[in-house]
Amino acid sequence: MNYQHTFLDGTPCDLPVGKAVCVARNYYDHIKELDNPVPTEPIFFIKPATALAPITKEIIIPSYSSNCHHETELAILIGKQLTQANSQEVEAAIAGYAISLDLTLRDVQQKMKDKGYPWEIAKGFDGSCPISPFISKDKLTNPQDTILKLSINGKLRQQDSTRLMITQILDLLAISSGYFTLMPGDILLTGTPAGVSKLESGDRLKLEFDGQYTFETSVK
Ligand code: ZN
Repeated sequence: MNYQHTFLDGTPCDLPVGKAVCVARNYYDHIKELDNPVPTEPIFFIKPATALAPITKEIIIPSYSSNCHHETELAILIGKQLTQANSQEVEAAIAGYAISLDLTLRDVQQKMKDKGYPWEIAKGFDGSCPISPFISKDKLTNPQDTILKLSINGKLRQQDSTRLMITQILDLLAISSGYFTLMPGDILLTGTPAGVSKLESGDRLKLEFDGQYTFETSVK
């Protein structure tokens, strides 16, 4: 695996690469667009460390899918261990923030959902979590009200503020740490706003984070 966590300003990051704890259905408009019921509590799943890839690395869609969706999400880097933490304790454990893609093989996911099977092969495959370098915690003014933006081939596809999250960042960290210990180097993905759609071979993606950080990638 050739991914390592980095900070955007060149600050060295010696945190190991760990798991990505993710949340499904955390923005109302996205729940509506996929015609899913609104959950009464956060729905968590995990991507393995091997899912992480630098955001600028070309996206490779696995051959067993013909419908890979982009989901643009705020990612939180964990700097300290969290086990059954409360929402006051979690803030001190945050090391940084990034923009990421939760790549989802929607056709495969639908098949697994229909059968009541786990989603892993639709969401945890190699390279399924492209992620930008992290902005250190003190450089992002308000992570709970920052804009995530994705354009594809020059057309705006996703643009929303993180204030629209149903369960907010600190609560997501606290609740998930009650199920899975979060280790230094793990990340938390916070769910996608509306606008998800199918990626095509040759697509050029431009992600914008907090109105000032821009990253580009493409689909093989
Ligand atoms: Zn997602």
